[in-house]
Amino acid sequence: MTPSCPAVLSDRSPCREPLVKLNSGSPAGQTAIKKVCLSELQRGVLSVSAAVMASSPAVLMRLVASAYTVAEKAGTIVRKVLQSGELGIVEKTGANDLQTLADRLVQKSICASLSKSFPKVTIIGEEELPAEDAEEELLENGHSSLILQKSCPDQYASLKEEELVVWVDPLDGTKEYTEAARVLYSPVYIQKAEQPYINRLLDHVTVLIGIAYGGTAIAGVINQPFYNYQMGAGASLGRTLWGVLGLGAFGFQLQEVPDGKRIVTTTRSHSNKLVIDAVQAMEPHDVIRVGGAGNKIIQLVEGKASAYVFASPGCKKWDTCAPEAILHAVGGKLTDMHGNAYRYDANVKHMNSAGVLATLRNHEYYLSRVPQVVLQALPSD
Ligand code: AMP
Ligand code: MG
Ligand code: MG
Repeated sequence: MTPSCPAVLSDRSPCREPLVKLNSGSPAGQTAIKKVCLSELQRGVLSVSAAVMASSPAVLMRLVASAYTVAEKAGTIVRKVLQSGELGIVEKTGANDLQTLADRLVQKSICASLSKSFPKVTIIGEEELPAEDAEEELLENGHSSLILQKSCPDQYASLKEEELVVWVDPLDGTKEYTEAARVLYSPVYIQKAEQPYINRLLDHVTVLIGIAYGGTAIAGVINQPFYNYQMGAGASLGRTLWGVLGLGAFGFQLQEVPDGKRIVTTTRSHSNKLVIDAVQAMEPHDVIRVGGAGNKIIQLVEGKASAYVFASPGCKKWDTCAPEAILHAVGGKLTDMHGNAYRYDANVKHMNSAGVLATLRNHEYYLSRVPQVVLQALPSD
């Protein structure tokens, strides 16, 4: 970790200003420390990044910076398990609710890594796993220094670890991940013909780390492990998107669907009559059926879809926390089918029972089209 400013100052030259009085958690304290560092900078003692680090980043930004690196390691694990061909698939509630070795290893990695650095944060992961120590090779203790250089929005600058709740979906789109593997490792697999289909499915897979405060999703990190597959063999795979309310979202190019088209994205493997009715009621110009809640929010912020419509229970808080934070950070909206917000306190029900409606723009239009039969079948909590 880059040394903090006071340590560097004491190494290089005595700091005459009253560092002991500074409260790094308060904005006033941050300004004061910055002032000391800038005077050192003018004398060429410190680098810019050391000066920025010196302002003792807010807990929220440290957590996001760590979650970013932890999510990148998670992406590596997801790719490695696929390459091994040994997915270790387990049915949870049924054939459409699966867990793989990747889900298990990634959750272990994320939870152990974050709780080591942030022992007072509440972390809730999707998978029920036996309580055991994570192997050393699963631990990640790095952080993104680019994220640490960004200022924390004032309203979150003094949040404490114990006030934060982290929702972890170690692998979103597990169904699609297993289907891609099945084709890839099938004895009748024909490399060239099947490759585009497998790749499309792998793009549905994401790793989701959402951060909530006071019941609201305020920050999120999404890793997409197989991003860039179009570049062919040898391309470096994967990307990480992140966002914080009041700061913005990064790691992608924000785009809207052209020409005000209504393009609805929805589930490909958890559909039913209500889901289909709700999608049709939006009078879409086009419908895209893909896996993963994270993937569908990426489609919204990259202008591939204008609304994510899922009129069914099934999505849980770990599916929506990170995507909602990123979507909200760029002015979008995620609600249940009634337009009510979900809450992400540590003690909430995990199931998003009243469905998911998410948009980058024109939320009111899509809400106004939700059929009565859906509203009656899916009451808000
Ligand atoms: P999908 O759009 O079908 O990929 O669903 C988005 C997320 O919600 C994934 O994590 C799914 O596993 C989860 N999900 C949605 N519906 C169900 C369901 N009926 N059973 C289990 N998980 C579901
Ligand atoms: Mg999921
Ligand atoms: Mg999952």
